[in-house]
Amino acid sequence: MKKIIYKKIKKYRREKMNKNKFMESYIENLQRITLKNFAETSDKDRYFALCDTIMELINQEWRNCKNRTRRSRKAYYFSAEFLVGRSLGNNLINLGIYDEVKEILSEIDIDFESIENFEDDAALGNGGLGRLAACFMDSAATQKLDMYGYGVRYREGLFKQKIENGFQVEGGDHWIKDGDGWSIRVESDSKIVKFRDQTVKAVPYDMPMLGFENEQVNTLRLWQAEPFEEFDFSYFNNFQYDKAVEEKNRAEDITRVLYPNDMQREGRVLRLKQQYFFCSASIQDMVSKYKRYFDHDLQFEDFSKYHIIQLNDTHPIIAIPELIRVLVDENGIEFKRAVEITKNTFAFTNHTVLQEALESWPKDIMLEVCPRCFEIIKKLNENLVKEFKEKGLSEEAIDPYRIIRFDQVRMANLAIVMSKSVNGVAKLHTQILKDDTFKNWYKLMPEKFNNKTNGITPRRWLVYSNIKLSNFITEKLGSDDWKYDLTKLKGLEKYLDDEKTLEEINQIKFENKKDLAKYILENEGISINPNSIFDIQVKRIHEYKRQHLNLLHIINLYHKLKKNPDMDFYPTTFILGGKAAPGYFRAKAIIKLANEIARVINNDEEVNDKIKVVFVNNYRVSYGEKLFPAADISEQISTAGKEASGTGNMKFMLNGALTLGTYDGANIEIFENAGVENNYLFGAKVEELNEIYDSYNPKEFYYKNEDIKDAVDTLLSGELNDNDSYMFLDIYNCLINPQGGEKADTYFVLKDFEDYKKTHEKINKEYSDRLTWARKSLKNIANAGYFSSDRTILEYAKDIWKL
Ligand SMILES: *Cc1c(COP(=O)(O)O)cnc(C)c1O
Repeated sequence: MKKIIYKKIKKYRREKMNKNKFMESYIENLQRITLKNFAETSDKDRYFALCDTIMELINQEWRNCKNRTRRSRKAYYFSAEFLVGRSLGNNLINLGIYDEVKEILSEIDIDFESIENFEDDAALGNGGLGRLAACFMDSAATQKLDMYGYGVRYREGLFKQKIENGFQVEGGDHWIKDGDGWSIRVESDSKIVKFRDQTVKAVPYDMPMLGFENEQVNTLRLWQAEPFEEFDFSYFNNFQYDKAVEEKNRAEDITRVLYPNDMQREGRVLRLKQQYFFCSASIQDMVSKYKRYFDHDLQFEDFSKYHIIQLNDTHPIIAIPELIRVLVDENGIEFKRAVEITKNTFAFTNHTVLQEALESWPKDIMLEVCPRCFEIIKKLNENLVKEFKEKGLSEEAIDPYRIIRFDQVRMANLAIVMSKSVNGVAKLHTQILKDDTFKNWYKLMPEKFNNKTNGITPRRWLVYSNIKLSNFITEKLGSDDWKYDLTKLKGLEKYLDDEKTLEEINQIKFENKKDLAKYILENEGISINPNSIFDIQVKRIHEYKRQHLNLLHIINLYHKLKKNPDMDFYPTTFILGGKAAPGYFRAKAIIKLANEIARVINNDEEVNDKIKVVFVNNYRVSYGEKLFPAADISEQISTAGKEASGTGNMKFMLNGALTLGTYDGANIEIFENAGVENNYLFGAKVEELNEIYDSYNPKEFYYKNEDIKDAVDTLLSGELNDNDSYMFLDIYNCLINPQGGEKADTYFVLKDFEDYKKTHEKINKEYSDRLTWARKSLKNIANAGYFSSDRTILEYAKDIWKL
């Protein structure tokens, strides 16, 4: 494996940077872009001038990287989502000039924090899948891997969440309305994308992806849709203004909004248009550069020597027929040869085993968007069926493999046939792909399947967001090599029995909890006690993630404290947060339930010094940066087998939280690495759930277990008010009443309740032994090295990309 780079060029920039020059050019930029005197400039002005100054600073290195890598083999990460978040702080960290710039600004009386807070998150993704893509960009640059990101420049990112009367209300997220300090529009690389009935221009915006203190600058290229012709003057001259702008709007619609559903398929024409739009532009970009920069006598057979495309889930799979189309139709390559080239170019990552997220497209929608691609897919399907028949398979035996069936194009099947690699994102998940989801394919081509357990970038999720812990680690290890090679955190284990160190760990956590408490008071208007246990569950709201298990437990706990005020209990603050897909009624019901429970408990003076409940508003990357450092308990309670990996779990672990989790996704590997005895494992395992699947009757649990009955009945008792939305009735029904062919409690909430409750009791007891707790916390931090996305990306580079 390629060695992780930890060059001793730390502080390389700090030494190189001329402070006076930086300040000079900053003030110059500030005045140039605003035409104002310094004193009159706003936070917004100051933020954008800072972006400009940093972009100038990295310009040379960025161009160097682009030039140097023109003719080398590169990886291309195709993803419909990049959940980047804010860039300012992270870029400064990666440049190694965070403290210096803060200092420079304070010398001219600028408060860095308010500038930092001016930046809107680039929320061009829904959740884990999009955030993974962003972490990979950071790690690839840090590991000096030449990786290009390709995606969509949505005008509106993931909706902003507001809570009104306890209900989620969605608002727009026009994140670039004031400008975009981190992109360069590369008009000259624009491409034409043709749909059946529409032709648009794809304009690339390049964002620099900085390696950590290493001068590598990779590129994230996001495509924006624009009209092919800006304006139809014939209409305009006839005073038909509306008609004149119609085409413009129709083009811009393509990249106007990110689809806000996580783990739910959206079968709309516009969605496929978005996918085809960015895949077509990206493939054209790659092919035209290949022709421009490589020798003219170069054969297209060599295309796959220089390009490997990693498909982040099913969304960019349409790039496969698109490459064949460009090779065959635009470059005169024979179909068979084009197929061979393509097969050597693609690799596919699966992110979920939930059927509702595996994409398939109806034939008529495909014909409406990209008819030529459908033709190509049809031919690929025919060839596949022919091949299987020659091998002697019956029509029936071929069915699971068909790319097209019942006039539906099954995108995952297309990707598996046409890729050289198929990977899952955690050990258990990859095993389930082999045993279940893709078992037929696995029998046929086992060599294609491999695992790449997800990771997170330690720069954003520790160095930047938890400065106190970060400095502490550097001090204890006597070096900051761990930022380059996170496995070095293992060295912290020598302090496991050092009382002073353990007390410091507790003190840092306490400081972070105070910071979060202050932030929550300002943003949510709720006062919480930093001396209480901070128990946090933040992630997209989904039944399989089981936020309702958490909430039912809180209801029951509340009732117990009411009945028995002298009960031995360590004060606990339950913090939840996350967005629900706007069309997902039950997920929205869970949000309403969380807010309603919070209202009742926080206003009940008999208990509100013992428990508090907070639903944090508008959970996003920049909110996460404040939450992870302050958590004592990380709630990772998905139904076993359902969470492919999870990455939130890793962010918590790296920041010293103990995991309260099921045997699912990467939780399993967290338990393996940090020791299950230093975390809290509960609940049924996949094998057990598979076994009881048919016979499971949640009502048995409901009638047998008083606490379950108490919690579930509270949904309808009148104690909680859903404002006649029928939301709580819906949750009640889904737990115990089978409806419309669907079984009750398909996510086994009631089955796992008792064990979950007992485990909470254990946590509550054990927390008061503060030193033992700190020891467990340290054990988790010290063993989080495996979950660096540096490790993940190096595995992709070695096993799949051969970079
Ligand atoms: C890490 C992250 C996620 C993924 O969280 P999971 O718990 O793995 O689902 C989602 N959203 C944001 C903003 C994140 O930072």
